[in-house]
Amino acid sequence: MATGLGTRGDGPREKTIIDPITGEKTVTMGDLVFPERKVWMKTFGCQMNYHDSDRIASHLQDLNFTKTENLDEADLVLFNTCAVRDLSNNKFYSQLGEMKHAKKKKKDLVVGIGGCVAQTEGKELVKKYQHLDFAFGTDVIDTINDMVFRVYAGDNKFTINSWDRSENFSIETKVSADSPQAFVNIIKGCNKYCTYCIVPYTRGKERSRKMAEVVEDISKLVKYQGIQEVTLLGQNVNSYGKENGESLAELIMELDKIEGLELIRYTTSHPYDVSDELIAVHGKSKKLSKHLHLPVQSGSKTVLERMYREYTPEHYLSLLDKLRAAQPEIVLSTDIIAGFVNETEEEHKETLALLDKAQFDFIYSYVYSPRAKTRAAKMEDLLPDDVKGERLREIQAHQLKIQDKIRQTMIGKTFRMLVEDFGTMGGVKKWKGRTNCNRIVHFKPENEETDYKWHWVDVKVTSATALSCQGELVVDLGKKAPSLLN
Ligand code: SAM
Ligand code: SF4
Repeated sequence: MATGLGTRGDGPREKTIIDPITGEKTVTMGDLVFPERKVWMKTFGCQMNYHDSDRIASHLQDLNFTKTENLDEADLVLFNTCAVRDLSNNKFYSQLGEMKHAKKKKKDLVVGIGGCVAQTEGKELVKKYQHLDFAFGTDVIDTINDMVFRVYAGDNKFTINSWDRSENFSIETKVSADSPQAFVNIIKGCNKYCTYCIVPYTRGKERSRKMAEVVEDISKLVKYQGIQEVTLLGQNVNSYGKENGESLAELIMELDKIEGLELIRYTTSHPYDVSDELIAVHGKSKKLSKHLHLPVQSGSKTVLERMYREYTPEHYLSLLDKLRAAQPEIVLSTDIIAGFVNETEEEHKETLALLDKAQFDFIYSYVYSPRAKTRAAKMEDLLPDDVKGERLREIQAHQLKIQDKIRQTMIGKTFRMLVEDFGTMGGVKKWKGRTNCNRIVHFKPENEETDYKWHWVDVKVTSATALSCQGELVVDLGKKAPSLLN
């Protein structure tokens, strides 16, 4: 499939040679030989970044790299960065600094950075950090092997952060993990320019993949790679398809028809682009998750205006009413920014009031963090940092009380879920999965040895708190998509 900037130019391609006697794999690209090597990757930020990292790892496999968790055995170190808030930004800078010592120990270690920070500051960072070999932006990740080739060919200290100028956004999803869940990027960029947000500057203009391509891509993932659950990804995913006269609502109804696809999720949405057609799909679709994450950011009309969010709290709450009418079992969650520029006590209280009205299942909440280039960063902010922090804590405590009550209503009910992993809680082995409505439930295995990974199970919730749900196994349905068992 053709890709945007992801299109590989006329340069050399990877060729794989397997030694018939030893079974050892060698890859050649141009004049260079790539023996088996290890890549250590660190990802910061949102699901989109994790998805990009997966894509990078999958390309690197073609160049004979396998992933390692052990930095000491790495030949290549890659950071996939996030610029949305200060916290992950700061963590990245301190870890990049520490790489100096790793490179001293291992002279031929290659260090690269990708993602949102690399998009905007890559050039300066490559100059500033002696031990940084290359930087690449968010729109060129599909050319990672060309960049790594260039470093091994002796040309380091470069930055590639050009934008994809092609009309079409066209890619093929790559899955590297052995899992029935896949993230599928359907739209990139964002045209919204909320005043606090760096994303339009790091991810560029909105561009959607054509619906026919996405449907074919997902059909193949289901048929050939055993995918049963997809999460459609985009910074503003429900703006999908506008430039092609297509929509997310139509896409979901098309995906609904794919046999063997069990569950469809999508994230992240902007309330302005939640159409009546999309709301109706939440009632109609057999496969769409009964969960929607719909970031509100604030419960105050005046703060939302300063954020340039293009909706009022009343409009937002009316969307929740419509969604609940279309799909009575829907579970809703949101994002909140505490202490936005010059937020008054009254405006803050309006956010607490919105939490009461909305009855969210969970929230992600952050202290407002000024980002260079954004319009909010240029506004004079008189609100002290300690007040911002206090407001965040108040929002979180308020929500936990709401959440605790909502979770009590789950007790006694049975949920179907895909089991993802296990861990130990208080010395007891427990498996955990994510329900259709995106709640994590832990359960004890029938015996220690049974492996439930990627099994569909029914669990009955026996106890719940605001932050955790415990259940007991009702039935183990095995690995096949339950809709195919009927
Ligand atoms: N596109 C989604 C939307 O319209 O809400 C959100 C994507 S954004 C990358 C993820 C979340 O990060 C936002 O919902 C917001 O709560 C938070 N965020 C973005 N910029 C922020 C900032 N400057 N300070 C604090 N939180 C921020
Ligand atoms: Fe950022 Fe989301 Fe606003 Fe786009 S819609 S600018 S990603 S917060």
